[in-house]
Amino acid sequence: MEKIIVLASHNKGKLREFQEILKPFGYTVKSVKDFGHTEEPVEDGKTYAENAYIKAKYYFDALKMPVIADDSGIEIEALGEHYPGIYSARFADQIKDNPSDGYEKVNAYILEKLKGNPNRRASYHCAICLIEKDGKVSSFDGVCEGQIASEKNGTHGFGYDPIFKADEGGLYFGIVSEDEKNRISHRGKALEKLVAYLKEKEGN
Ligand code: IMP
Repeated sequence: MEKIIVLASHNKGKLREFQEILKPFGYTVKSVKDFGHTEEPVEDGKTYAENAYIKAKYYFDALKMPVIADDSGIEIEALGEHYPGIYSARFADQIKDNPSDGYEKVNAYILEKLKGNPNRRASYHCAICLIEKDGKVSSFDGVCEGQIASEKNGTHGFGYDPIFKADEGGLYFGIVSEDEKNRISHRGKALEKLVAYLKEKEGN
C-alpha cells in the first residue's frame, strides 16, 4: 500500500529533497499545497524543535495524515548568542530591500560586520518533527559546525551558504555539490536520523 507523508512546507527544494530520501522506503511525500493549504501557522516557538512541531501539528490537525516539518537556521557567535538562529529568515528580511531578493546584501552585511573579528564560529541547526497517523510525535535534530569565511565563495546552495565553511572537510557550502552538502549538513544529519527511525519501524 502506498504510504503518504505530508511535508509541512511550501518550499519546492525541500519537497524534492524529502521525496528523494524517503522514496526508497516506500513513502510518497506530498506538499501541504497538494491538499489545498496555502496558509502557514505562526512560528512563535522558542526553539527549532518547537517551531517544527508547531508546523507539523497545524497540518496534522487539518489533514489527519502523517506529517513531517522542519525548521532550521544559522547561529553566528559574533552576532550574539544563538543569533540569528530561529530568526534566520526574518533577520535576512530586515537587511534585504525586498523579501524576494537573494542573500547578496545579507551576506555582504555579515562579512562587513565580522571584518577584523577573529571569532568567526558559526553553526547550522535543523530540527525535523514527525507526527504519525496515530498522533505519535518524534523529533530529530542535526547540527553542522563551521565558520563564516573571510569572503564569498561560490554560488551553490542558498541563503547563507556562500559565506559558510563547514569544519567537516573544510567544505565551502557555496562550492560543494548538493549531494556533498546533504552528507554533512544540519538537514542531512536530521534526515539521516528520521530515516533510521523509519527503517527500524519498517523492520528494514
Ligand atoms: P526554514 O527552516 O525554512 O524556516 O528556514 C530558516 C532560514 O535559515 C532560511 O531561510 C535560511 O535563511 C537559513 N538556512 C537554513 N538552512 C540553511 C542552509 O542549508 N543554507 C543556507 N541557509 C539556511
